[in-house]
Amino acid sequence: MTHDASPSQAPSDRRTVAVVINPSKFTDVDEVKATVAAGASRAGWAEPLWFETSVEDSGTAAAEAALDAGADVVCAMGGDGTVRAVAAVLRGTGVPYGLLPSGTGNLLARNLGIPLTDLDDAVEIALLGQDRAIDVGTATFDDGEERVFVVMGGVGLDAQIMDNTDDELKKKVGWGAYVAAGAPALFKGGFEATLTIDGEAEEPTNCLMVLACNCSSVVANIELATGAVLDDGDLELVMLRPNVVAGWLGVAIDVATRNRNGLASLKQWPGREFEFELDQPVLAELDGDPVGETTRGRFGVDPGALIVRLPVPAAQAPGLSPRTAVVVDPAVA
Ligand SMILES: [Mg+2]
Repeated sequence: MTHDASPSQAPSDRRTVAVVINPSKFTDVDEVKATVAAGASRAGWAEPLWFETSVEDSGTAAAEAALDAGADVVCAMGGDGTVRAVAAVLRGTGVPYGLLPSGTGNLLARNLGIPLTDLDDAVEIALLGQDRAIDVGTATFDDGEERVFVVMGGVGLDAQIMDNTDDELKKKVGWGAYVAAGAPALFKGGFEATLTIDGEAEEPTNCLMVLACNCSSVVANIELATGAVLDDGDLELVMLRPNVVAGWLGVAIDVATRNRNGLASLKQWPGREFEFELDQPVLAELDGDPVGETTRGRFGVDPGALIVRLPVPAAQAPGLSPRTAVVVDPAVA
């Protein structure tokens, strides 16, 4: 790092942020780019580099190009699918990951306490925040390739809900849209899952969903996997079992109100390695993206494999230049 960060410096001497953006998520991409560029300029950084996702590329090629460009931090602006694709590329590289808010989703940013509504603050955190290593979830379905997730991977109801949920509806009504989309699935019989948790085989169980969670809030504002944190090297496996219909309504209400008391239908295990075998093909999802049907597979964790940029909890002090607040209220985040 140099001592002189004045704008007159040669661009090659200044730090660079690369942003992988899904332009379809923004009504005014130019305005978004201008806001990020202004933040970079304020921090004495070079003009940001932009890499757009496309119908053919959900972010993998764009993130690889961002890495190749030698960026000091790589950011994602898009849905949770973009965030996941960039995370897969940055995993294990040590290059810090900045999360910039964008429309729906933002599941990882939400769990990290990064502002979801203020792009200026989020840019400042991405450029000047503190680094923290978090775990990356891994998933393998049938005999396919290993894929990653940052928030959750699952089979069953959650995947069906994600598959059914209309984006516009999701924007307007939030959790209600998930419940509405899932309602038809609630009344199907579910499937039988045989789980092996860190080498220990469980009895085959009839269930509606098996979800490996890297953090607790896996659907907007719903703490489904109690106690799951991103930096402990563990996942939490949550299984949702069908009881009677009345029990189902109870699950929806209890989960929505974060009240788990008396919930007989949710079962949870911590662990690092979960294998599952299903009695029929069931739809799977990773971070909310349906990824096809599966009958057997595994969820695992790559501890500390991703470096993320977090808010710096520094108070304003007479010896520091004033900054916009980065205080995040968990109640509204
Ligand atoms: Mg964990």
